[in-house]
Amino acid sequence: MQQFIEICRDHELKITPQRVAIYQALIQANQHPTADMMFRLVKEDFPHIAFDTVNRTLLTFADIGVVDVVEVFGGPKRFDPNIDGHHHLHCTACGKIIDFKNDRCTDLEVPASITEMFKVISKRVVLKGLCADCAIEQ
Ligand SMILES: [Zn+2]
Ligand SMILES: [Zn+2]
Repeated sequence: MQQFIEICRDHELKITPQRVAIYQALIQANQHPTADMMFRLVKEDFPHIAFDTVNRTLLTFADIGVVDVVEVFGGPKRFDPNIDGHHHLHCTACGKIIDFKNDRCTDLEVPASITEMFKVISKRVVLKGLCADCAIEQ
């Protein structure tokens, strides 16, 4: 929360009760939710909030770097309140995205053939597969 407030202040983004509620719901959701999932969560406390407000707020958060947009191929954008370097496990059956930390993934050495033509800003390892629940059902 402290980090959220500081980043908002740095970007002169007003800290409104709605914005705080959206950010808190995102942390509590703990599942890299879509804007649509977030809208349903926030609506419980703010019954009159519009989808567009939630969506725009999330995009603003992403713009100023208070949340991350998760790399999803094809599907709707998903948001991640964890902006510390971490990696993802994508379950291809249920769509769950699980965070994991691993120093070797974080310290992954990028070959010169890539750094010569591409300036690397951040690195994230994404592993696709089946989560424990889905692996049982297979
Ligand atoms: Zn799964
Ligand atoms: Zn994550």
